[in-house]
Amino acid sequence: MSTLVRTLRGFAVPTFSAARPDAALGPVTPGRRTLRVYFIRPSTYGDDGHVLHFRWGVIPSNTLPVLAGLAAGYARQRSDLCVQTVLWDEMVDPPLSVALIDSIRGRAATDGTQLLIGLAGVQTSQWPRARDIALQCRAVGLPVVVGGFHVSSHAPSREFLASVGVTVVIGEAETLFDGLMDDAVHRRLRPSYAVTDGMRARTGSGTVLVPAIAAAELPQLDPRYLSRFFNPTLTTLDTSRGCPFTCSYCAVQQVMGRTVRARDPRRVVEWVRDAHDRHGIRTLFFVDDDLFRSPRWDEVLRGLARLRRERRDLWFMMQADIESAADAADATPRGRGRRFVDLAAEAGCYSVFIGFESLDPVNLAWTHKLHNAPQSDRHDPRSDTAAGDRLLGRYRGAVDTWHRAGVSVHAGYMLGLPFDTPGCGRRGARALADIGVDLASFFVHTLLPGTEDYARAVAAGAITNHDFNEYDSMHYAGTHPVLAAREVEQEFRDAFRAFYSARRLAWSVGTAHRVHGLHLAARLGIAVQHLYFGYAVRRGWHPLLGGLGRRHDRATRRAVVTDAEAVARYGALRRPRPYEGGDQGEVEFAQPHAPLVPPS
Ligand code: SF4
Repeated sequence: MSTLVRTLRGFAVPTFSAARPDAALGPVTPGRRTLRVYFIRPSTYGDDGHVLHFRWGVIPSNTLPVLAGLAAGYARQRSDLCVQTVLWDEMVDPPLSVALIDSIRGRAATDGTQLLIGLAGVQTSQWPRARDIALQCRAVGLPVVVGGFHVSSHAPSREFLASVGVTVVIGEAETLFDGLMDDAVHRRLRPSYAVTDGMRARTGSGTVLVPAIAAAELPQLDPRYLSRFFNPTLTTLDTSRGCPFTCSYCAVQQVMGRTVRARDPRRVVEWVRDAHDRHGIRTLFFVDDDLFRSPRWDEVLRGLARLRRERRDLWFMMQADIESAADAADATPRGRGRRFVDLAAEAGCYSVFIGFESLDPVNLAWTHKLHNAPQSDRHDPRSDTAAGDRLLGRYRGAVDTWHRAGVSVHAGYMLGLPFDTPGCGRRGARALADIGVDLASFFVHTLLPGTEDYARAVAAGAITNHDFNEYDSMHYAGTHPVLAAREVEQEFRDAFRAFYSARRLAWSVGTAHRVHGLHLAARLGIAVQHLYFGYAVRRGWHPLLGGLGRRHDRATRRAVVTDAEAVARYGALRRPRPYEGGDQGEVEFAQPHAPLVPPS
C-alpha cells in the first residue's frame, strides 16, 4: 500500500492556468545592459495545417533546459550583463503569431533590452515551422539563431538561412555557446557557429568534432515550463551523448558521433538530488540514446540507488539496446548486462525503451541493426521462418529479463522498411503483444537528412515527398519495393490500433497492467501510458509527438510549403526594419517581396 501511495504521489495534478512564458520576467535594472534570450522549441504543422499545440504536454524538451543551463553559466561570468531567459515550447505554449512576435519585440524595446531569438533543437519535421518563425522574426529585424539535428545535417537549409540573415549552430552548443552570446551582445553574430573545441568522435564514415561534456553546465529547471506538462514532476536529463551503432536511418552518429561521452556522474547524481529536493521531481526520463553504452552508467545508477536508499521517491525511464538483457551466448558478457539490469531496477528504473524495429532479420541487416539479431544469424541474415523465430525468441528473452527485474518494456518498431510486406503492421503489433511488450511505439521509416538512408534515397532519386513537415515518423516519403506510400502509412496506423485495441486497453487499465514480476510502479505507469497512447492514436497524432487536449490557433495556420514560398510570404508581411534594441541589419531576402496572400 505504501508503494501505491508513493507511486500515485508521483503523478501530480497538472495546473490549469497557463501563464505566458515571459509573463514573469523581472524588471530591467536601469543603467545595466540586459540580454533577453527566447529559447523556442518550434512545433510542426498538423495535417489540418494548424500548429500542433496542446493544453498539456507529455514529455518536456531536453534541449530547452540544457540551453537555460548554458545561459545561466554564461551569466555568472558576466557581472556587467543581465541575462534573462525565456523557455517557449510551441507544443504547450502559444504558437508564435505575428502579433506575439510584435509584442515580444515591443516589450523589449520598451524595457530597453537586447533580444535574441534561439530556435532550439530543430528536427527535420520542425524545419518548416522553424523557418516560418525565423523569417517572421527577421522581417521585424530580430536576431535569430537556429540549431538542432536538421540544420546540422542539411546543407541546403543552412544556405537558405544564411540567405535570409539567420545564424546557424552546427552540432552541440556547449563549447561555442559563450562566444555566440558575446557576439550577440556586441551585435556581430556570424552566419554560422560550429564546434571548434572538443574531441574527435568517430561517425559512420569519418570523424566529427564534439564537445567533452564531463564538466558541462547541467540543465536548469524552470517550474513554469514543467507546469505545462501532464506530469509536472517529470523531467528529462542526458547523462551521456553519442551512440556506438550505425543504424542507417539514424543521424546520431553523424551529429553526436559514435564515441559515447558522459557527464560527471557525481554532478549528475547531485543534480538529481537537487531536482527532487528543491523542485519536487520524482520521475526522470534519461534521454541518452543508449544508457547501457555510457562509459559511466555504473556510477550514475549506483548514485541513484543511494538517493533512493535515503528515502527519496525517484523513478526513471531510459533507452537501452537489446544486448543489455542478452543471454550468455551473446556478445555482451553476461556479467555486465546482468549487473546493468539489476542496478537499473535498484536505481528506480520502471520502464526501458528498446528499439526492436523489425521482426525480419533481413530488414535489420539492411539498416545495420544486426546487434538486435542473435549472433549466429548476423553473418548470413535470412528472411526464413527459423531465423524469424530465433529473432523473436531473443526479443522475448530480453522482455522476460527486464520483467523479472520488475521493469516494463517499451518497444520501438518501424514500418516501411524495404522487406516489409502487406499486413506487416498488424503482424508486428501482435508479435510484440505476444512476447509481453508492455508499451509499443510505431514509426514510419523516415528518410532523415544526415542518415545513410537519406543519402541512398537521394542518390537513387527515390524521394517522393519533399515537404519536411511530413518527415515526422507518420508519413512515408520514399519509394518502397512493394507498398505504396499510403499503404505504408496505413500499416503504421494498423499497428497502433492492433496493439492498443479496446480489449488490451481495458485489460491494462482494469488490472493496473497486471504482469507477473513487474513492480507496482511500473504497472501503474504503464496503465496510465496505455490510456494516453490509446487516446492519442484515436485522435490521430503520434503519442510521442503529441499531448493532451489539442488546440487550434487560426493565426498561425500553415500558409506555405517551400522555402521560396515562405520567403515570398513572410518577407511581404512588412518591410524588414531595424530593431531598436539591437539588430542584425536589414534582411536581404533571396526573393522579391510578393503581395500578401491570405491563408486558405
Ligand atoms: S537508432 Fe539508436 S542504436 Fe541505432 S544508431 Fe541511432 S541511437 Fe544508436
